[in-house]
Amino acid sequence: LWQEVPLAPPDSIFKLTAAYKADPFEKKVNLGVGAYRDDDNKPWVLPVVKKVTRILLNDETLDHEYLPITGLPEYTAAAAKLILGPSSIALTEGRTVSVQTISGTGANHLGALFLSRFYTWNGAPRIYLSNPTWANHHAIFKNVGIEPVEYPYYDPKTIGLDFEGFIGSLRAAPERSAFLLHACAHNPTGVDPTEEQWKVIAQVILEKKHYAFFDCAYQGFASGDLDKDAWAVRYFVELGVPLLVCQSFAKNAGLYGERVGALHVVSANSETATRVKSQLSVLQRSEISNPPSHGARLVSLILNDAGLFEEWKRDIRTMAERIIAMRHELHRLLTQELKTPGNWDHIVNQIGMFSFTGINPEQSKGLVEQAHIYLTANGRISMAGLNSHNIRYFAENLDKVVR
Ligand code: PMP
Repeated sequence: LWQEVPLAPPDSIFKLTAAYKADPFEKKVNLGVGAYRDDDNKPWVLPVVKKVTRILLNDETLDHEYLPITGLPEYTAAAAKLILGPSSIALTEGRTVSVQTISGTGANHLGALFLSRFYTWNGAPRIYLSNPTWANHHAIFKNVGIEPVEYPYYDPKTIGLDFEGFIGSLRAAPERSAFLLHACAHNPTGVDPTEEQWKVIAQVILEKKHYAFFDCAYQGFASGDLDKDAWAVRYFVELGVPLLVCQSFAKNAGLYGERVGALHVVSANSETATRVKSQLSVLQRSEISNPPSHGARLVSLILNDAGLFEEWKRDIRTMAERIIAMRHELHRLLTQELKTPGNWDHIVNQIGMFSFTGINPEQSKGLVEQAHIYLTANGRISMAGLNSHNIRYFAENLDKVVR
C-alpha cells in the first residue's frame, strides 16, 4: 500500500526555519519566518495576553465542554465588530454571519469551501489571486476544486503596485468573478493600494459585480492602528460590494499556535444571512465539528473589556512601531551610511511584517550561503527578524550582494 504516493517537497518556509535552527553560526539571522520577534529575537507573549491567561486560569466557572458549531458567540460577535466597525450597517442590519475558524488558514479554507459549493460561477470555478500572494492561497483553493488564476499586482520595476495591471485585470475578468484581496499589509510584498486606489478598485468590482474575498491576517499589525488597517474592508461594505472576510488573531495578538480566527460573510439581507449560516454550520460540522475554546476565550476577554482592549492596542503599537523603526534604520544604513547602490525607499514605503527587498534569487542565495542570513528566494524579508543587534550585519551583507 501507498507505493504510488509521490514524495512531496517540504514547505519552503518551514524548511528555511529548520536550516536556520541547524546552523551553528553565531551571527545567523532568520528573516524567513512570519512571526513577530522582540529586539532580542525572542517570541513575544503580549502582556495583555499574559493577563487574560491568568484570568482564565482563575475562573472556576469554566469547563472543557464543546463550543457551539460556529464558535464562541461573544468572541465571533466582538471579532466582527473589530473588523467591520462597531456601527457597520452590515451588523446593525443583521446580515453578517460570523463563524469561528482554525485561525486565518481555516477561515480561508471555509470561505473557499463555501464558495466551491454555493457560488454561481461563470464557467469553471476560479479565484483571482494577486501575483504574488501568500503561497498557501493557491493550495487552499485547489484543495476545494477552485482554480487559482493570477492578477497582476506587484511591479518589479517600481518595487510597488502595478495598479494599471490590477485594474485591467478586474475589468477583463468575466462579470461575477471572485477576487482575493489582502485587506492590509500584503503578504509577501508589503505593498498596499492607497485609499484613493482602493476606491477605484472598489468601483470596478462593483460595476463588474465581482465578489471580494478579503483576507485580513494583519489588522493593527500594519500601521499600529486597528481602524486604519480595516479601512478597505469597511469602505467596501459601505459601498455594498458583496464580500467575505477571513480574520486571524495569530499576528496581532501573538496567538499563532492557538489558532484563533473567524470567517465573516456579509450578505444582502438578514434572511440570506440565516441561510448562509445554516450551510456554513453544516460544512464546519463535517470538518472540525466545533472550534477550540481557549484562544477564543482569550480574545473574547480582550475585545469585550474596554480596559483590556486599550492594553491590547498598546501592545499592538509596541509591535508595529518596532517594525517601522527597523524599516527606518535599514533605510538609513543603506542610503546614508553604506551608500548602497539603488533606490531603497520601498523599505520605508512598504507596510506590515514583510518587505520585498527587490533582490534577485541569486542575491538571496548569496545571503543564505555566504552570510547565514535566511530568507526566501523571492527576496522577501520578515522585518520582525531584524533588531538593533543584527540590523547592521544584515545591511552590510545586503550591500555586499547588490554591489
Ligand atoms: N493569510 C495571509 C495573507 C497570511 O500571511 C497568513 C499567515 N502567514 C494567513 C492568512 C493565516 O495565518 P494563520 O492561519 O496563522 O492565522
